[in-house]
Amino acid sequence: MTASGDWDVQVLREFFETEDIHRILATPANKHFKDSWRWLGDIRGIYSVKQGYQLLTSGEANASYTGPFSAWSKLWSLPVPPRTKHLLWRCARDILPVRENLKLKHVWIGGGCPLCSAPYESSSHLFGECWYAKDLWCQTDILQGLSIQHVMQSILSLSSTTKAVEMAAVFYVIWTTRNNLVWQNTAPSIVRMRNHVSHLQNLWAEAYSKQPRGLTQADTEVAWEPPNSGKLKCNVDAALFTSGAGFGAVVRDHMGRFVAARGGRFDGIQDPFMAETIAVREALSWLKTLHHRSFIIESDCLNFCNAFNSCFSEFSYVGTIIAQCRVLASDIGDVTVCHIRRSSNHVAHALARATGSMSGSQVWENIPPACISKLFHH
Ligand SMILES: [Zn+2]
Repeated sequence: MTASGDWDVQVLREFFETEDIHRILATPANKHFKDSWRWLGDIRGIYSVKQGYQLLTSGEANASYTGPFSAWSKLWSLPVPPRTKHLLWRCARDILPVRENLKLKHVWIGGGCPLCSAPYESSSHLFGECWYAKDLWCQTDILQGLSIQHVMQSILSLSSTTKAVEMAAVFYVIWTTRNNLVWQNTAPSIVRMRNHVSHLQNLWAEAYSKQPRGLTQADTEVAWEPPNSGKLKCNVDAALFTSGAGFGAVVRDHMGRFVAARGGRFDGIQDPFMAETIAVREALSWLKTLHHRSFIIESDCLNFCNAFNSCFSEFSYVGTIIAQCRVLASDIGDVTVCHIRRSSNHVAHALARATGSMSGSQVWENIPPACISKLFHH
């Protein structure tokens, strides 16, 4: 590395292949950071027991499971309670204690389907073929000759989660009804089951609606606000492309008037958090040259804003960039970093997207570039 802490391209060219040089140049470096151990599974480089456990269990699942189901991450991110996900997981791996599975384990308790008295109870029968299942699905042949794991796979592969949440409710109601019958001898009622399915769907929709679901009505209505007089506000955003990332930084004054903007590309970056962080660094190193000492930086990346404003340093690649941002900010003088919603950041977003067709980094002063000019009404 050079004395200033950057990669020495001359040296790299002598020692490495071209494609490796690109990878090395895309690796952030900071000479103020000493070598130390990092946890690769976490973007902040911090180890947690939860991640260690996930790594171990996913390795085990990959080693032993070869069924038709593979939408695991979709399954675990469904907006339904954990125990319902756990039920879906057991069904996807076909390890629910239905009678055909018990038979495979040499636990033969006899009897077929507890609900409809079909001669056998497999997960495909219980959740797909059984008369009760057909009624709840409002469909006579959900399986279409395949297994219930195939059905789960195709439902979870849909872009909308509505159908998957309905599936989760149907599975949950069938499984509890079946268990109540087997263990407590409670007679099943199809009307009660139907009501239970729609009750769960409403309950979960309400309980999990706080999670962001793309642009909602309320989100689009949040307006950008100009800074107080004497301050300048700089909105920053990043955009990911197939070959790397782009950034946009737009400075406006207390009247909301365009002051200046900068946009550009950086290659080799594929991680959104990293891209947003580099975008702010690029913005700050440019703002430093503008001869103004008081800025509000707005980013829609909550991870970045929290990390920047935190008193802890993160020992990771992204942490080195955040440290650089802090140094640049204190060089400038009075810089505050605030989180805003995406909808209030659309000027920076539009500029970041437009860098996809730009060759190098560009700066505009007084007159906004064409790609964002229609967003200024004045
Ligand atoms: Zn049945």
